[in-house]
Amino acid sequence: CGIVGYVGHRQALDVVLGGLRRLEYRGYDSAGVALLDGAGRLAVERAAGALSNLEKKLAEDGSSRFEGHGGMGHTRWATHGAPNDRNAHPHRDAAGKVAVVHNGIIENFAALRAELEAAGVEMASETDTETAAHLVSAAYASGATAGDLTASVCAVARRLEGAFTLVVTHADEPDAIVAARRSSPLVVGVGEGEHFVASDVAAFIEHTRDAVELGQDQVVTITRDGYRVTDFDAVDVEAKPFRVDWDLSA
Ligand code: GLU
Repeated sequence: CGIVGYVGHRQALDVVLGGLRRLEYRGYDSAGVALLDGAGRLAVERAAGALSNLEKKLAEDGSSRFEGHGGMGHTRWATHGAPNDRNAHPHRDAAGKVAVVHNGIIENFAALRAELEAAGVEMASETDTETAAHLVSAAYASGATAGDLTASVCAVARRLEGAFTLVVTHADEPDAIVAARRSSPLVVGVGEGEHFVASDVAAFIEHTRDAVELGQDQVVTITRDGYRVTDFDAVDVEAKPFRVDWDLSA
C-alpha cells in the first residue's frame, strides 16, 4: 500500500519510518523494513498491525543491525495471504540477500510460484510478492543479467503480469536500490547526496521537493549521488523532473 526506499547520508531507518508515517493515512494491515549496512548485510523486521508494533520490535531488537544508509519500508494492504508477520513485506530470497517490497498484484504469481517450487525453492509466505524476490535472486545469480541488479529487475518485471510497484535491494549491491512500476505509482525524490523512491511524494517531502515521475513500465536505480531511469529492456529513457509545490503548513 505504501512504499519508501532510501539511499543517502542519513540513517535510512529514520527516513524510512518517517516516510511510512506520512503514508499511514492510506490505511494498512502490517508494516516492515529492510536495511542494508555498509558491509552488505540485510536486516529485516516486520509486524502485523500498526506501525507502532514494528517500531516496538525494532526497539526491542536494539542491535546495530538496523543502522545503515540504505533501506526500504512498506505498509501492506493484503491481497494474497493473511495479514500476519510472515506475509508482511519485505520478502526475501532463500539466501536472505534480496529484499522486495511491493504494491499491487502479480496476476501470474501462481504460475511463477509453481515454476520456482519445481526448481526447489521453498516459499516462506503466501504472498504473490515473494515470487519476485526469488526471481530477482535467480536473475542476479546467472545468465545475461548476472551481477547486475538493474538488469535483473528489468528481466523480472518483463515476466510479471498485473499492477505493481516493486522496490528491490541486493546485499551484493548495497549502494543501490532499484524500483519498477506498471499501473501503480512510483516517484523519485532527488536530494543532495541522497535519493528516495516512494509510492507518493508525501513520503519524502520533508527532505526534498525535487522529484521525478516514472512512466509506465519504467525502472529507476537510485544511489547516493544519482538516479537512472530505463524501460523494462534496461534502455535509458528521458526522466521527467518536477517540483513539488505543496504547502506543508496547510
Ligand atoms: N499483493 C501484495 C500482498 O498481498 C501487496 C499488497 C499491497 O499493495 O500492499 O502482499
